[in-house]
Amino acid sequence: MDETADARAELDRLGRSLREQLVVLITDLAPGADLGLLFLDAPSVADRHEPLRHHYAAVFRGERPAAVTAAGTASRAAALLGSAGWDVTASEEDDDGQRCSMVLAHRDGIRIRVRTGDHTSAVMFGGRTPALAFGPAEPFRQPEPVRTPDTLTPGYLLCYECDGLGWCPGCGGRGWVPSEPRGRTRCRVCRTERVCPICRGGGELAASQLSDYQRGYYPELD
Ligand SMILES: [Zn+2]
Ligand SMILES: [Zn+2]
Repeated sequence: MDETADARAELDRLGRSLREQLVVLITDLAPGADLGLLFLDAPSVADRHEPLRHHYAAVFRGERPAAVTAAGTASRAAALLGSAGWDVTASEEDDDGQRCSMVLAHRDGIRIRVRTGDHTSAVMFGGRTPALAFGPAEPFRQPEPVRTPDTLTPGYLLCYECDGLGWCPGCGGRGWVPSEPRGRTRCRVCRTERVCPICRGGGELAASQLSDYQRGYYPELD
């Protein structure tokens, strides 16, 4: 059983379910809206802690017909979602305490929000699936060095910065380093370029082209 493929298939199923329901809502509540602008084709990273977790998420703006009130739009949204088996909560206030007509719905861990208000004809549709990991966290394996004392090009020395690794010694070639609050943070040594900033990935430096400063790393040359 491929755990990664299973998790991906499950997330794609949830993504399709979210998309289908948003299309029904948008078509009904904001007729004429361009559904080509509903971007739900690929999951995005929801959480950068290992293992990465992905979700489908979208925000869509439509306009309600002039004859329909904000309250009318909200009650129609609640009816559509309720009949499709969603747990629906209606609210007259958003999280910031602003007056609005809002409907929140949950099903299978998916969340949908429809929000409009008396002061606007815009109807905001939002939705996201739960965030799933595609597999267990993979332990990081340091890459093999591209150069060793045995494979040096004649006239070259092992790079003093990476010792022949070639990949950035700060991040091991990943371009990022683990971080508690954000999960990942960009590597300051290579600035996400992944290779050693001194040898640019070669793992070795030509002895004849060393600067005086660089020669200081190779006392055996004097
Ligand atoms: Zn190097
Ligand atoms: Zn790096």
